[in-house]
Amino acid sequence: MSDTEKSSGPGGGPGATNFIHAIIDRDLAENKYAERPVITRFPPEPNGYLHIGHAKSICLNFGTAAKYGGRCNLRFDDTNPVKEDTEYVDSIEADVRWLGFEWGNSLFASDYFNQMYACAVKLIEKGSAFVCDLSADEIRTYRGTLTTPGKESPYRNRSAAENLRLFEEMRAGKYADGEKVLRAKIDMASPNINLRDPVLYRIAHATHHNTGDKWCIYPMYDFAHPLEDAIESVTHSICTLEFEDHRPLYDWTLAALAWPLPPQQIEFARLNLSNTIMSKRYLKALVDKGDVEGWDDPRMPTIAGLRRRGYRPESIRDFCERIGVSKSNSIVDIALLEHCVREDLQPIVESRHVVTEAIKVVITNYPAGASEELPLENNKDDATMGLRRVPFSGELYIDGTDFMELPEKKYFRLFPGNEVRLKGAYFIRCNDVIKDAAGKIVELRCTYDPATKSGGGETRKVKGTIHWVEAKTAVKIELRLYGCLMLDGENGESVLNPASLTVKEAWAEPSLAAAAPGERFQFFRRGYYIADAKRTDGAKKVFNEIVGLKSSWK
Ligand code: ATP
Ligand code: MG
Repeated sequence: MSDTEKSSGPGGGPGATNFIHAIIDRDLAENKYAERPVITRFPPEPNGYLHIGHAKSICLNFGTAAKYGGRCNLRFDDTNPVKEDTEYVDSIEADVRWLGFEWGNSLFASDYFNQMYACAVKLIEKGSAFVCDLSADEIRTYRGTLTTPGKESPYRNRSAAENLRLFEEMRAGKYADGEKVLRAKIDMASPNINLRDPVLYRIAHATHHNTGDKWCIYPMYDFAHPLEDAIESVTHSICTLEFEDHRPLYDWTLAALAWPLPPQQIEFARLNLSNTIMSKRYLKALVDKGDVEGWDDPRMPTIAGLRRRGYRPESIRDFCERIGVSKSNSIVDIALLEHCVREDLQPIVESRHVVTEAIKVVITNYPAGASEELPLENNKDDATMGLRRVPFSGELYIDGTDFMELPEKKYFRLFPGNEVRLKGAYFIRCNDVIKDAAGKIVELRCTYDPATKSGGGETRKVKGTIHWVEAKTAVKIELRLYGCLMLDGENGESVLNPASLTVKEAWAEPSLAAAAPGERFQFFRRGYYIADAKRTDGAKKVFNEIVGLKSSWK
């Protein structure tokens, strides 16, 4: 990889550059596009929801257009009538907008069907395309292999007049699916198999979500895509590396039509994330089989899933910036994405106390029936985020992990005889462990030292600080913790993680009863959480774990 290829972010903050921006800089210096602004496009097929991989392409395309004061089109690549749906169109628009990008009107490739048909006719007239009667299987056999040349179709030398008549009959519905196709006439011996007389149009008697039953022939991706770009005056058509071998056909198509100032295709490496599947087809199967709750299940790598999980668009854009743009495929550690999420949330969310596997603490020397309100800081790194007042009394809950009857080495939290600080409150010492008949701990009898109130001037030191909630005012909430959706199987394949969701009951300080759907918090010593936007009807408030506190990112 050269230095220019290594590059920085796709968003292209001022001065940022990557190999794609280097190409654009050169084109602008040469005035290659004759004063035309830089025009890019994001061209999803509306056959599923967008995932984090698409976010990389969105940030790159919209970011590049913004950097050069140009424009990025949102164009639906809806040339395949069978798999597409308006539900997907709506979700894609919502997701791109949520990521923070704006465009004019959404464009639809299917709106160009007339122009594409006219282009096909033009190719036939100049002898560069022909109607072929070979079946799909025969076409495959005739195509040859990487090491052997293909064989020319017996229909290759039909006259232009005959081809025009047959193509018009295809359009008029005279033939069944698969009976005929329109093919480019290029070179059956080309080392690039994509140039061995590729199919340009196929017959599909199917209702299209936009054009209804107007058409029964549909252009193939490799023919449609350069035309879509050219019709929109796109200058730089940025796509993923697997299309590199298709670029000669992209260029051939526009050259054969003598298109003025044709757009140029530039490929970059797609985003792959560890323990994450990024294929709409696979994700759709998970949804259809009911393995997940839907496209917006918080475990899904979809934009909708990440949004419900609690990620903010800022962190996704930051992540896309940091991974940069390159020409070689690699797998990015998901820990980097989580790192970006933590960095985004840390300065802006307020802290709350929440405990799980709760153990009751009774402070035997706290005045009976008394209570007080103690100030706790909302964000330990930002005093301007202020204090909240939290009830405190002689009956509390602490987290199950903060007590050990038989402490292991270097355990500095609560154990019999030990003293710890209750965050923002007092020192307590554990004197007695009360158990039920089954041996389960039901209560810890402790004493507190009123002289150690936080903010006061205590002299002795304790090694552990633990958090707590006041027992009578605490509210019960549900925590949903998420592991990765995919695990590495024995043969390196991806398998569904059977334990990707853990549901826990927790006690929380009372203010969380009023959390609005979508409101985010740091649960002290635990992680970042969001009040689920959908599960709002149950008795308990449900919080999704956005990301834990500890980073595994190096
Ligand atoms: P999938 O394989 O998940 O169905 P796709 O590439 O078929 O994805 P499209 O709707 O065709 O989905 O993608 C729209 C744009 O997003 C394309 O330009 C494609 O190159 C880009 N894109 C898709 N996946 C990724 C990825 N993992 N990283 C970067 N860009 C991607
Ligand atoms: Mg695709």
